[in-house]
Amino acid sequence: MTPQQSTDVLIIGAGPAGTCAALRLLALGHKVVLAESEPFPRPQIGESLSPGIRNIFDYLDATDLLTRRNYFHQLNAQVIWDTTTPQTVNAAQRGPGVMVDRGQLDKDLLDLAMQRGLQLYQPARFESCKQTDGGWQSQLRQDTQTITVNSRFILDARGRRGNHMQNRVLTAPPTIAIWGHLPAHLMPADTLIEATEKGWIWGSPTPDGQFRTITFIAPGELRGNTVPHVFYDLLSRTQLFQQAAGDWQMDDLQTCTVFTYAHTSPWQDNYLRLGEAAFSLDPLSSTGVEKAMRFSLQAVIAVNTILKTGHTDMAQTFYEDRMIESISSHTHWTSGYYAQAWPGQQHAFWRERSVPFIDKSPVPTAFYTRLRDKFSAPKEKGPERLINVQQELQRLWHEQVHLSSALIFKETPCVIDDILQLRTAIQHPNLEREMAYLETVEISPLLSAAFKEATFGSIVQEWSKIVPFEQAVRIAFFLWDKDILCTTAQ
Ligand SMILES: Cc1cc2nc3c(=O)[nH]c(=O)nc-3n(C[C@H](O)[C@H](O)[C@H](O)COP(=O)(O)OP(=O)(O)OC[C@H]3O[C@@H](n4cnc5c(N)ncnc54)[C@H](O)[C@@H]3O)c2cc1C
Repeated sequence: MTPQQSTDVLIIGAGPAGTCAALRLLALGHKVVLAESEPFPRPQIGESLSPGIRNIFDYLDATDLLTRRNYFHQLNAQVIWDTTTPQTVNAAQRGPGVMVDRGQLDKDLLDLAMQRGLQLYQPARFESCKQTDGGWQSQLRQDTQTITVNSRFILDARGRRGNHMQNRVLTAPPTIAIWGHLPAHLMPADTLIEATEKGWIWGSPTPDGQFRTITFIAPGELRGNTVPHVFYDLLSRTQLFQQAAGDWQMDDLQTCTVFTYAHTSPWQDNYLRLGEAAFSLDPLSSTGVEKAMRFSLQAVIAVNTILKTGHTDMAQTFYEDRMIESISSHTHWTSGYYAQAWPGQQHAFWRERSVPFIDKSPVPTAFYTRLRDKFSAPKEKGPERLINVQQELQRLWHEQVHLSSALIFKETPCVIDDILQLRTAIQHPNLEREMAYLETVEISPLLSAAFKEATFGSIVQEWSKIVPFEQAVRIAFFLWDKDILCTTAQ
């Protein structure tokens, strides 16, 4: 007989997406089983973590994992991007990023989850699953043994290996990454980023005393060339890496094709994809790990909502909306950043990446259609209005106000105590997304005070009964600036 096990959630894969979800689900009181196919620590690319990672670790009560090892915090950067002159961006301007040993960090996160009650099968490979009345039945393979796990949910966090090309749509042109180590004694103790005509290069000292260097180029560059030749040729034409390129040993080079993609059906019957099993991001921003973990936190809110309230539709909409938002905002940011690079539009590498890209999906699912619609060009933002609050408050105080005719009130899911609940949000062409709260204050009840004959001043006074006066003024000016709260004298 094969061993049987029942749980609320089965997670597949112990990368940052899987363990982040496990830690949060355990904190919310759910039973979690995780299967990881590799023994840890295993090598893993992606060691430069963006500043936003810190508040995720704080939230998981895992801050200690970023400080207990000999990781590098707050490196300065030398950057050649929008001009051919190197710029120094100091650590304070870059924000508090951290260079880690990913294999070690992933192991530390997994150990922490086990201390907090995770049941782990490792090394154990997830092989298959089938739907049952109450959820899913999965088969795990550990050595020669098959383990059966019954769960309400499966969270698939298998990374890039976790899905087939036919279920993905590309959201950027494919790129080739080639990486190796340059002699650390010839390199500065800074992060280096340089745009070249054929692609871009990133390098950084690593906590184990090496200098990791990755080049990102178009696949066509490898045609008729060997990987070491392309790597050396690219480095030798740079300003920042050129000197060390001559002393470089070619024996440790690795390469992969970087596909940037989204899964076209990331949620099917309580089978949810997380991290790079759901979507991957262009490595330009070094935010892959942060975005994977942030998305796991949102997926956990959806799972928790179903387990505690049964509201599946609302949970699925929330999960899909957050994923679409994450992909589209990142894609618009990266294409804008590629467009600023000095080589410019006459070079195919830069031209192709300077506009948001989404491929045709072989299977145009409802999710794909919503994602594609979000890729239409973002609204041009007008120049920021600088408001002299004292002066404007005096000027507008007796002005009559009314609400914009383009304002729509809409029921929308909001996260309240780790569960989704419907709240009335406002929707307006000048807002990037629906908004139910502003500075933690629910907006729609405030707007009901914008009744007939109300003035800017009477509204501020009315709101100051609920929130401090300064906050009431800030909220009024935010809504006025967006033309949601309108005065005759704008
Ligand atoms: C060239 C390159 C450079 C990058 N650089 C950066 C960077 O500097 N900073 C950054 O933040 N991000 C970077 N990234 C992205 C980053 O690596 C990923 O965002 C991150 O690893 C995704 O985490 P994950 O948990 O989704 O997947 P992974 O970290 O890949 O974890 C998936 C886990 O699932 C396990 N698994 C797979 N199949 C099975 C199975 N059948 N059964 C059980 N377990 C299974 C795997 O063994 C693995 O441990 C880079 C990516 C690339 C390609």
